[in-house]
Parts: sequence; structure tokens; C-alpha cells
Amino acid sequence: MVGEVRHALSDDTLSEDTICQWIDHGSASEYSDLFWTLDPIDGTKGFLRGQQYAIALALVKDGVPVCAILACPNLPNSDGSVGAIFTANGNLGQCLQTGSSAALPISVSKEASLAKSRFCESVESAHSDHSQSQAIAQKLGIGGQSVRMDSQAKYAAVARGDAEFYLRLPTRKGYVERIWDHAAGYAILKAAGGTITDVDGRALDFRCGMGLENNRGVVATHGLAHAALIDAIAETS
Ligand code: AMP
Ligand code: MG
Repeated sequence: MVGEVRHALSDDTLSEDTICQWIDHGSASEYSDLFWTLDPIDGTKGFLRGQQYAIALALVKDGVPVCAILACPNLPNSDGSVGAIFTANGNLGQCLQTGSSAALPISVSKEASLAKSRFCESVESAHSDHSQSQAIAQKLGIGGQSVRMDSQAKYAAVARGDAEFYLRLPTRKGYVERIWDHAAGYAILKAAGGTITDVDGRALDFRCGMGLENNRGVVATHGLAHAALIDAIAETS
């Protein structure tokens, strides 16, 4: 990486320390009323496997992610193309697919039948409890084709109606979700009309610094069966 930067700037004297200082420029770990949060490669394990990953940038204003851009270079689209960029600006959520000339508005699925509903979850069983999600699906009769994928592409999938639910069920006590793993996806799903809470039904609290200290896990949905999911999580915990 150092070599790439030296080459790009035609300066062979640049040190690793200087470059790291540039990367850290403006960084902060404390909460403020207006800040950006960036995950340059979200879903690193998916990136390494050649599967789903995302570049996720969000603007958090007064504790709420309000603007975001989420690039999902490997996400398959319904027209057969691969790769999509999602944006949120307040209540406007949009998606620009590879090969399209214009970004189009997105909105969540209107599927009310649990038998036809689909959920997505992490590929990594260490990041979300797969056996609990199976138990929930069985309990509620969630029968649609569910998918495992890495990164915040899961929020995008729910935001454009490719799935109804994204479940992130804690696998161990004490794990605190990082804000950059959720802020952009949160803004995009909200803009598309979705509902997002933690597994206890609490609003996500982006005012705690780098972690969602006041929350456990995440439940992100099209909104039509959110309460039923929260109940089912409690009953299967
Ligand atoms: P995903 O691609 O949805 O599996 O999420 C990837 C993110 O999971 C990484 O960026 C990590 O910050 C985060 N992560 C790491 N360990 C855990 C854990 N035990 N539970 C939940 N998320 C985790
Ligand atoms: Mg990440």
C-alpha cells in the first residue's frame, strides 16, 4: 500500500507513518452531533471469498444516520447485472445498478405472508446465531428462500425488497456492534420505509461513540411483522 501511495504521489520519501496519519486525519472515537462513519471494506470475509462485501459511508446527525452511500460491487440484480450502489438522503432511498444510467427509488417489500417471507443473515455463524434464526423461522412459519450473505448488503436486500427480514442474533454475551457495520445500511433501509431495532425491540443508539453499547444484535425488516419477530426472538432465547 505504501508503494502505491508513493507511486501515485510521485514521492519515494513518504513514510508509512505519514500515510497512516493522513488516513487518521479528522478521526474521533467520541460522539458528536454531526459525523461521518466509514467502513471501507465491510464484510471482509466475503471480500476474501469473492462474495458479498460493501463500502459503507454514512452521515450521522443528532444520533441518527440520515445520509449514506453503500456500494455493493458483487450484489446480483434482477436483470442479471452484478453490482449496485445504494444511497439515502433523508426519506429518499435510491439504487443505481451496474449498466443503468439512472438511480431509481427503492422501497421495501409489501409481502405480508410469513409463509412467503425471506430472511437474510450473516454467512459467519460467529456473527449471528444460525440455529436461533432456524428456530424463529420454524416458529413463525417463515417459508421463503432465505439467504446468507456478508456485509451490509443485507440491509440493501431488505431495502429493495429482495428479502423481508435481516436478523443479526447475538452469539455471545457482551459483543458490542460497531456503528460502521450498521449506520449506512440503517439510513438506506429507513429511507426505503423499513424498521430497524435491536433484538429487544429498542431503537439503535448511535450516540455512544464507536459501539452500539445500548443495543444487542439487530433486527431490520420491511416493517410488517417486526413485533412478531421480536416476540419470537424472546421466546427462542
Ligand atoms: P457480516 O458480514 O454481516 O457477518 O458482518 C461483518 C462484521 O461483523 C465485521 O465487520 C465485524 O465488525 C462484525 N463482527 C465481528 N465479530 C462479531 C460478532 N461476534 N458478532 C457480531 N458481529 C461481529
Ligand atoms: Mg464491517
